[in-house]
Amino acid sequence: MDTKLAPLHKNKNIALVAHDNMKPVLTDWALKNRDLLANHALYATGTTGFTIEKALNMKIHKFISGPLGGDQQIGAKISEGDIDVLIFFWDPFEPMPHDPDVKALLRLAAAWNIPIASNPASADFLITSPLIGESYERAIPDYERYINERTSSLK
Ligand code: PGA
Repeated sequence: MDTKLAPLHKNKNIALVAHDNMKPVLTDWALKNRDLLANHALYATGTTGFTIEKALNMKIHKFISGPLGGDQQIGAKISEGDIDVLIFFWDPFEPMPHDPDVKALLRLAAAWNIPIASNPASADFLITSPLIGESYERAIPDYERYINERTSSLK
């Protein structure tokens, strides 16, 4: 896949998602890092969003609940370049009925080269990185080139 550079902005759009057993873990993490998170715009799947919003007393853009499509909504935003960072505490010990959606979200985050944290340790490293408060050029799929090549080979 050809790539091109695209910025992750100085003030990041951060998506927060936690499976049920991990919601207290993400809430604790978010409380601990409230001041750092306050520099960015926060997005979340429905239940995670309501939980964190209440705990932090901070505005969060909420999508629909994950199992009902929220993971896919966040994935779509990532592919549109509107989410810069994904903090997703998925549960390694419970099977999920919406596992295909979880996998799709993680796949899109990898495809569009955004930073991902999947547990408190990785989230600590991510949120305290100097890059979190800076504009950062990352390589993303070159969609224009991709579509040109595909359509010209179909002629
Ligand atoms: P929820 O969704 O925040 O609505 O619980 C998270 C998930 O994908 O399970």
